Amino acid sequence: MVDEGSGTRHGIGVSPGSACGPVVLVAPPVRAPEGEPATTDPESALTGVRAAFESAARDLDERAGRVSGTAAEILTATALIARDKSLHQAAGKHLDEGEGPATAIESAVEEFAVRFQALGGYFAERVADLRDVGARAVAAVLGVPAPGVPDLTQPSVVVAQDLAPAETAVLDRTLVLAIITSEGGRTSHTAILAAQRGIPAVVQCDRALELPSGTPVAVDGDTGTVTLEPSEAFVADLVARGERRAAALAGSAGPGGTSDGHAVALLANIGDVEDAVAAAGQDVEGVGLFRTEFVFLSATTAPTAQEQAQIYRSVLTPFGSRRVVVRTLDAGADKPLAFADLGPEDNPALGRRGLRLSAARPALLDTQLEALALAAKETGADVRVMAPMVATAEEADWFARRVREHGLPSVGVMIEVPSAALRSRHVLADLDFASIGTNDLSQYTLAADRMQGELSDLLDPWQPAVLDVIAAACDGGAATGTPIGVCGEAAGDPLLALVLVGLGASSLSMAPAKVAMVRWALSQHSLPDCQRIATSVREARTAPQARQMALELASRGLRELL
Ligand code: PEP
Ligand code: MG
Repeated sequence: MVDEGSGTRHGIGVSPGSACGPVVLVAPPVRAPEGEPATTDPESALTGVRAAFESAARDLDERAGRVSGTAAEILTATALIARDKSLHQAAGKHLDEGEGPATAIESAVEEFAVRFQALGGYFAERVADLRDVGARAVAAVLGVPAPGVPDLTQPSVVVAQDLAPAETAVLDRTLVLAIITSEGGRTSHTAILAAQRGIPAVVQCDRALELPSGTPVAVDGDTGTVTLEPSEAFVADLVARGERRAAALAGSAGPGGTSDGHAVALLANIGDVEDAVAAAGQDVEGVGLFRTEFVFLSATTAPTAQEQAQIYRSVLTPFGSRRVVVRTLDAGADKPLAFADLGPEDNPALGRRGLRLSAARPALLDTQLEALALAAKETGADVRVMAPMVATAEEADWFARRVREHGLPSVGVMIEVPSAALRSRHVLADLDFASIGTNDLSQYTLAADRMQGELSDLLDPWQPAVLDVIAAACDGGAATGTPIGVCGEAAGDPLLALVLVGLGASSLSMAPAKVAMVRWALSQHSLPDCQRIATSVREARTAPQARQMALELASRGLRELL
């Protein structure tokens, strides 16, 4: 590798590929300062607040002018909210009561949010826009940059503290060359969405927020390296490495399997219709995980069966006869859905999320199953339905019964809670398949919050304890003759994929951008090779040791490409 230019930052590469472009910094969310000084002259403060709303409105109008269609209509409608006189009056009332200007804006916005929610329908759907207006007006009144991803005028590298899944989901792929975050982790949903959209990404990047706006940087999503002002030679080298990889992978096509012909289905993880269309056009054997909750991240009311069926039809159709594994809503914890909120909890990751939420709100699950059955019937697709966050055999049985009652033929569960892995023989007894979610399985095995980037060493899927728990899950699969796949981020790591297959995984599901490398890695090893590697790494004491052992036993060709 040639010299790295004038500065290098290191993080965790979570979405493969490389890109070079200017930095665009995402301003962090702005809140009214705690203890904001009280307003002593409400009249002049109201003039300032009105000006702040007008500045937000002008900003929105200007953005509307640069786009077209629905996006422009939404921005124009949002500008109207910012100019709403009753909203200004409400802020004025809070100023009269002595609140500081930023606090008064927030109070008025929250009052209106409650009213909008109560009105339901169109108004309830405007709550996010209303809060966006509020955040922009607060920024304007405080004289700081507006929050969120700015409008990009040229292909850029987006740098943020972290991005909400909803923000990542709407990033314009043609303008976002790469993502760098100072926080986040390898299994945070920002990382997952970036990989799904094929955007190179580095998370946990040191001093990322100090990267000067406009500075050219080279981002390597494979190694997790960010290089400031890279030299031409460096960029050329980065491109050449990408081309070497591409050349090695060019001959890799078709169904996945080991060199001795043991089939391992290679599947795509998707989160919406756009992902489905993109993935279906690629060399994958179907979908191993459709995270249905991603479709509804910004919905404020529960989607009807008809609305859902239409979305599912659009997801299923492009895959023809290829399988599509649909996960029922995994709402809660890091993926809150407004319409499936059971109220605040002290430990949301250990609370009523995933299937537990479905148990608390069975109508939500039934509507979704009804929609899936409808879409499956109309498309004739190979739909398989699985539940998130299953902990016990009773839960698996409850879910299987409900799915079958809706006439859906294939039912499975995710194994992402250690109890389900350890008891998989019983959990799987009445199921057609299972899929191991290594993201949550790592979180729950090591008791380390997956949202907490500083814990990324504990969340490393090479942790020997995680490998033991995966092995236990696979043993249950073998004992009951139930196919068991992996759909967590671990499945997309070409070296770890060898271990997973050696432990008994029969399918691997990942971001489509990762499939070619995994396919190639498998094709370089026989099933006994994979089993030998798996047995060996389970003797490791630490995660780095486990990875190193696998690396030493892997083929030279794979070592050279990693
Ligand atoms: C997992 O936990 O590994 C998984 C695939 O589900 P999610 O990342 O959506 O929680
Ligand atoms: Mg999970």
